[in-house]
Amino acid sequence: EKFKEGLTKTRDSFVGKMNDLVKNYRSVDEDFFEELEELLISADVGVTTVMDLIDELKDVARTRNIKDSEQLQPVISEKLAELLQKDEADSKLNIQESGMTVILMVGVNGVGKTTTIGKLANKFKQEGKSVLLAAGDTFRAGAIEQLEVWGQRVGVDVIKQQSGSDPAAVMFDAVQAAKSRGVDVLLCDTAGRLQNKVNLMNELEKVKRVIEREVPGAPHEVLLVLDATTGQNAMSQAKTFGKATDVTGIVLTKLDGTAKGGIVLAIRHELDIPVKFVGLGEKVDDLQEFDAQQFVYGLFS
Ligand code: GDP
Repeated sequence: EKFKEGLTKTRDSFVGKMNDLVKNYRSVDEDFFEELEELLISADVGVTTVMDLIDELKDVARTRNIKDSEQLQPVISEKLAELLQKDEADSKLNIQESGMTVILMVGVNGVGKTTTIGKLANKFKQEGKSVLLAAGDTFRAGAIEQLEVWGQRVGVDVIKQQSGSDPAAVMFDAVQAAKSRGVDVLLCDTAGRLQNKVNLMNELEKVKRVIEREVPGAPHEVLLVLDATTGQNAMSQAKTFGKATDVTGIVLTKLDGTAKGGIVLAIRHELDIPVKFVGLGEKVDDLQEFDAQQFVYGLFS
């Protein structure tokens, strides 16, 4: 239901047009596929993904001898689901059965990183886990305070230093605090400026090294937060961060605010990084574990 609600804009636009396209038993010819291609690209599905998808649909149409659009419609949703489903298992978070799980959150300013940290902290707490936040964005004015607001809201402590201090030192403190308190999940914020890529990437590396040294096997997840409303921009951010660090999963925020939910497909297909969560609103419980089947169901029903 959450998916259905959060995907309203995408559904109204994309699916509305899709229904217009496939209705009236149109014949499945070159014109049809061209229109379908345009429609998918306009929903931010991504050119490479669209091309592959259209090729597959043409194949199916040929081999199953599908002549009209209404017969093809279920195949379209089936193929979309397949694209998203590549590997269901890897959409699960790597949470340690015993001992501490460290999750590093990365992403550009404004994408919803702080909000997502708050939502995740809340989710873990509801699962009965103890959580600690590390205020590793010491660069952006207000970042630490904003994280503290979320900390208070969900009842989780924040380990911080002054604005402008060394983020690696904050991480060191946070890890020590988490160890001595026996915390289950340590969620680490990081700076998100992209203006100076070299600095940003060096900083991420340094932060990661501290975590690796202090907690064997950590970080267990490096989650890249992307804003779905920025479309292909989100794709290029994913590529930049992907080069700088081992991103293990993506959180796609603001899916509720876009008619271009097709970006999920492009990310899955072209980047090969699993989408682990999607943000479907500003409230604390507006975070959903990503589920391909539910996503496609949310789109088409
Ligand atoms: P940060 O700079 O990356 O930490 O971004 P913030 O967490 O401050 O979020 C930026 C804005 O996006 C805020 O107004 C949030 O309420 C909003 N936001 C975050 N996630 C979502 C989401 O899933 N849906 C919607 N509609 N808004 C969101």
